[in-house]
This record gives sequence, structure tokens and C-alpha cells, in this order.
Amino acid sequence: MENRWNDADAQAAVTHYGARGVSETLALRVYTSRLIGGDPALVLHGGGNTSVKGQACDARGDPVPVLYVKGSGWDLASIEPQGFPAVRLEPIRALRGVRQLSDEAMVNALRTHLLDASAPNPSVEALLHAYLPHRFVDHTHADAILALVDQPEPEACCREVFGERLAVLPFVFPGFPLAAIAMEAFERDPEVEGIVLINHGLFTFGETARESYQRMIRYVQLAEDALAQATPAGRPRGFQVRENLYVPSSEEVAGAATVIRGALATQDENAPGGWRRTLLHYRTSEAIRAFVDGSGLRDYARRGVATPDHIIRTKNLPLVLPPLEPDHGDPLAHLSDVCRAAVTSYLSDYRAYFQAGVRNSGQDKVMLDPMPRVILLPGAGLFAAGASENAARIAGDIYEHTIGVIADAERFGRYTPLDALRLFEMEYWSLEQAKLGSAAEKPFARQVALITGAASGIGAATALAFAREGAHLVLLDRDEAGLAEVARAAEGRGVGAVTVSCDVTDAEAVEAAFRQAALRFGGLDVVVSNAGRIWQGAMAEVEPAALRESFELNFFAHHTVAATAVRCFRRQGTGGQLLFSASKSAFNPGAKLGPYALPKAAVVALMKQYALDYADIGVRSNAVNADRVPTALFGEGVLEERARARGLSVEGYLSGNLLGRVVRPQDVADAMVMLARAERTTGAVLPVDGGNIAAAPR
Ligand SMILES: [Zn+2]
Repeated sequence: MENRWNDADAQAAVTHYGARGVSETLALRVYTSRLIGGDPALVLHGGGNTSVKGQACDARGDPVPVLYVKGSGWDLASIEPQGFPAVRLEPIRALRGVRQLSDEAMVNALRTHLLDASAPNPSVEALLHAYLPHRFVDHTHADAILALVDQPEPEACCREVFGERLAVLPFVFPGFPLAAIAMEAFERDPEVEGIVLINHGLFTFGETARESYQRMIRYVQLAEDALAQATPAGRPRGFQVRENLYVPSSEEVAGAATVIRGALATQDENAPGGWRRTLLHYRTSEAIRAFVDGSGLRDYARRGVATPDHIIRTKNLPLVLPPLEPDHGDPLAHLSDVCRAAVTSYLSDYRAYFQAGVRNSGQDKVMLDPMPRVILLPGAGLFAAGASENAARIAGDIYEHTIGVIADAERFGRYTPLDALRLFEMEYWSLEQAKLGSAAEKPFARQVALITGAASGIGAATALAFAREGAHLVLLDRDEAGLAEVARAAEGRGVGAVTVSCDVTDAEAVEAAFRQAALRFGGLDVVVSNAGRIWQGAMAEVEPAALRESFELNFFAHHTVAATAVRCFRRQGTGGQLLFSASKSAFNPGAKLGPYALPKAAVVALMKQYALDYADIGVRSNAVNADRVPTALFGEGVLEERARARGLSVEGYLSGNLLGRVVRPQDVADAMVMLARAERTTGAVLPVDGGNIAAAPR
């Protein structure tokens, strides 16, 4: 455990925040909080909390003693001074005299005594921070501490490692009850430098930011040393690799991702396309493989979370799948069967846990989404699931650390976390659920859209339109710089975007792009086949090679993309949709534009064929016929030539439609999104041309 305190950095923080009117005390509180938050072996994703006691001015300008404590919604890694709401210290310390305090009453009391009425809610541990007399208090869920406190006899382990310098407390529910017993422990021995919480984590205190932080590092180091000493080299018990384990290829892992994503989807008439989907994020490493490949996986992976806080991100238990079996014909088809059966049994176990929890707590609760958040595939790695890519990544990060904790705990003794019934209270605790927020989802949240020709023009506009609707994106083009720019703009709208440099006429490159999508997001729901280029010339004079080249890009590539998409849709089993950029020239060809118009006419036929052939698996197929949209398609003088071919000026050509308005890329993008939302429309062509009766579908 590295002590990352640095005098120069600490001074720089004091100077930086001092210039903004922040006291030295609070500046140093921010500095060491960020040191803690920046080390994932100490806290992860909003976990842990810190505080400092100081003075602030009330409305009359009089100084009042306050507790600056981490506000909920802030992450220690990136916290700022305003992430520490100031709460009047005296009135909240006085709550110690109260015998019982409900969560709602505690939150209300804390909010009532804020100096700034608009500040975020103080941490649920604010009372514990307030009661202790020390100026600085730090709290983490360090991996090494968890490996020691999740043991069958954790008190004895902690005594042996930490001696008398830390108080050791049994698991008590966070908030008011924990604050009360922590204070009693401190009063029994005011010399202690911190408190170890069984099945939970570690608090340290000090008179300075540095002292409290250094104590945190020192005790975590002691835990790491104890684990290292007690650890026989090699794999822990139960981690011997299972016999005859089949290790899937990366193609099979990508296929498995789509199968798993499909198995985690639930039919829901109110959800887009009738399915409530999930995003899936795959990762693997040597440590993950050692864990998932172990013959005892079903035992050690199914004992529960390392610290209660994690349950809202990962659920208490992962879904453990059997390895792929190549002897069963198509291993992915077999996986699909076993995966669906495993999900069904996971859900019935969860329902039983929920009912037991409700009986035990005596309170009525509404069941949360019961789907697993972590899925383990022996021979491969872990898949983390969530409503967004970010939620899935958080679950993945937390579980990767859980793997380390379980491995260390098993080497040291036996991993023994808190039992499920007590965790139920944490999972269903309103103050924990509040951390997840409940913003309304956008129409394409939980969906993934792949767009070809996405670096510019209609493709780029379509990508951003789907991003606006909440879809995560897979962007294909040969223009990498253009793709990067579109991806940045999409990420600015809060969605994940993966870019793939890809020539869509290369079937293998298209396959590889779909595999990347599967490993990054778990699969695909919308595929916009858009890449195209104009070839001109009178038919009898066109070089046969040029005509074939145009067909390769303007027809066959659309088919390759659609066929690859259908294979992915079939594995997911949740329908899907194909959107083609055709052209008005499919219906109303222009003079000397045959090499472009012919394949585009074929694309409309292709779209209808896909609509016919795959409606039975819920796939919809539609096309947009755009016309005269000023994009790179019209570069290199093509626009001028097309205008001339119609006997018009460039301006007259662009606005030469019934409405007399120039059609923009975003108009075409909006039509794509509209078709994607038209859930009972398939086999349709939607013109976006400002009105052109000669080109109207018939
Ligand atoms: Zn905690």
C-alpha cells in the first residue's frame, strides 16, 4: 500500500484552493480524500467517506463549529471543497442523547443543520464522523482489510494483526446504530487510532489530514503484510483449474456475450421493441481467469459481497455459468440453453432471498430488478451487466476487486462475508438506493446502434441522433480522424462510443467490428447500413470494373452488414432492426447515374427481402431514401455535375423539391430514428427529399 502523501502536492492544494477562499484545513481534506479516492485498492466508485471539523460563518457572519463531511453523490477521487457540505456540529452531536433515530429522521436532522440549504445530503456516516473528537476522520473499504474481516473468526484475526491500536467492532448497520457503538468503543479506549468494522471496512482518525491518512495507509499495509505472510505461494484452495476446461476463442467469447445479453433481457411491452435490455461489459485477466477457472468456483463465488456497500452495484451473488462445451455441436447454441436455464434458476433463488428478507425484516418492500449484474464464464472471464455502459463498468470494477479479496481471504483462511439476510437490509435500504439515482431513461438507453459510414454527413448525424436518444454507439468508417470526432461528440452526450476503422466491403473486417461491439457492449440492437459513394456515367460507357466496384460498396456491403447483424440478432433472441440508406435514385434515377442508381434500387429490394425473411425472429428492416443532401457524397464536383444534369444551378438543385427547402443530414438522421421507433413498421421506404412525387414509393 503506497503512501502517496507528498508535501509539495499538499502545499499546491492549499495554494490552489486558498486562492478560491477555501481554508487550509478544508484544502488538505480535499487533498487526502483524493489520494484515497484515487487508489482503487482503498475505495471504488463513490465508496468510503471522509470529514474534517472546522469553522464556518453563518448568515450573520459569526463563526460556528461545523463538520465538513463527504456529500452523497460525490466520488472521493474527484471531490472538490463543495463536495463537503458543512453541518453545524453542536446540534448533530446532541443527537447522541436520542435513543432511536429513523433513517428519515437522521437525514432530516442533518439537512436541517446544513449551513447551505442547497448542499448535497451529508454522508450516511456523518453522525459517526461528528461524534468522534478527532479533527480528521477517514473511512475506506480497502481490499486487504476486507480479506481479514471476512473470515470465520475475524475479531481474532484483527487482534493478531492490529493489536490494541484499533478498536474492533462487529457488523452493525451503518448510520445511527453504527455511530452509537463506534463512539462507545472509542470511549472505552480513547487511545485507539481507528476502528475496524467486521464485514465492512476501516476508519482511521487524526489531528491532521496527514496523520489520519498515514494511519489508514499503515493499517492497510499491516493487513497486506499479514495476508502475504500467511499466504502459501500459488493458487488458494479450490482454485485448481477444473479438469478438461475448454478455453473458447475470442470469436466464441464475443458470441457468448450476445447469448448472455439475450438471456438477461426480459419481455416488457412498455420497453422499446418490447424488450427490457441490458448492457454487458466483458473483461478478463490472469487473476480473473484463475478465479473463474477454479474447480470450486460455484462455492467461493457464491458466498456474497466483500462489503455491504457493493450489493447495490453487483447484487449479492454472480451468475456462474458452466464452461462452453465444444462437443455439443454449436457450443453457442448449447450455451444459449444452459444460460437461459441458469438465469431462470438465479431468478427463483433471488425471489426466495427477497421473500425471506421481507419476512425477516417484517417490512413490505417492492422487489428490485432481480437480474444478475456479474456473470462468470469459466475459461473466459467476467461479464458485468448494467442499465448503461457506466453501470456495467462499475459492477465490473467492483467485482474484479472482489475476486482479489476472495482469493486473498481463501489463501489466509476461508472467505466468510456477511450473511444474505443481513445484506438484504442493505440492498433494500432507501439511503443506499438513493445513491443509484432514478433519472428517467431515454428511449434508446440500454440499446446499441452500429452505424457504417459514421465519420461524416448522414452517418455522423445519425450517430449523434441515436446518441441523443440514449443509444450506445459502434461507429464504422475508413476515416479514423472523422470517427474520433463523432465519438467525442457522442460521449459528450453521455453514451459510450467505440470506433472501428473498417472497409465495409471486407466481410472479415465487418465480422471483426461486430465482435468488438459484442465485447464492449454485449451486442447490437440497431444497425444503420449507410456507407456509400457515387459512381456516375452513361450505362454503355461505364467501365464494367467501375460498375462492379459500385455494386461492391453500394449493394454487397449492405448485405454483408445486414447478414452479420442478423446472426447477432438471432443469438440475442430479442429482435433487432436494420436501417438502410438507400437513395431516391432507387425509384427515380437521374441521367448518367446508373452505376449508383442500380445498386441502390437493389438495396431497396434487399431491405424488403430481409423484412420478409427475418420478421419471424422480430427483425424489422426499413430504408430511408434521401435526396440532394449536401454531404461529402457530393464532393469533387459531383454536386455541380448533378445540378448540370438536371439543368439547374447548385442552389436550385439543392432546394429543387416541393417544399423548396434544402434537406440536411440531421433531417435524414431524424427519419432513421423515427423508423427505429416505429415498432410496427417493416419493409418501408421513407423519403427524405423535401417532396418529389416522381420519386415517391409505389
Ligand atoms: Zn463503509
